[in-house]
Amino acid sequence: MIIQLYSKIQPISRILFLDRDNTLIKDNGYFNDPKKIVYTEKNMSIFKILNDKNIGLTIISNQSSIGLNMYKIDTVMQVHKKIKEKIESVGGNLHSVFICPHLRIDNCFCRKPNPGMLLTAVNLYNAQKKHCLFIGDKISDELSAVTAGVPFKYAKRSGYSDMILEWAMNDNH
Ligand SMILES: [Zn+2]
Repeated sequence: MIIQLYSKIQPISRILFLDRDNTLIKDNGYFNDPKKIVYTEKNMSIFKILNDKNIGLTIISNQSSIGLNMYKIDTVMQVHKKIKEKIESVGGNLHSVFICPHLRIDNCFCRKPNPGMLLTAVNLYNAQKKHCLFIGDKISDELSAVTAGVPFKYAKRSGYSDMILEWAMNDNH
């Protein structure tokens, strides 16, 4: 597991976990080209709302392309730096990115559908699992969330801002 920390670790009770490819950014065949990032969600102000409500933001991503030597880790980190800058430009805050660089045959605990990345993040931030949310696009995302005990929702093709808004505004959490 590769963990990119963008801010000091402190307890955050609620975290939005976002899958990267096909959820946060579109599959345009250039997932790991920092110059060709296309965001799925048009309403990027949603990230400011998360920040205003002290909700953490963490990306949870399988990147077997690293294990396959298709991309260097530096290149993947460049993509995440761009994403971080974009989120900050709208008043948001990307706290961290968790990557599984392994292949399916490696049988690791971190590769989704396994829950390793979610569980490690929850523990790192001392978050309240049931008050977090994981949004992804694949059954492997859902399975990792179910196993970790974190609520899950499927992103729509058009984005996910409405479901984040509904969740973030729910003060019963
Ligand atoms: Zn792994």
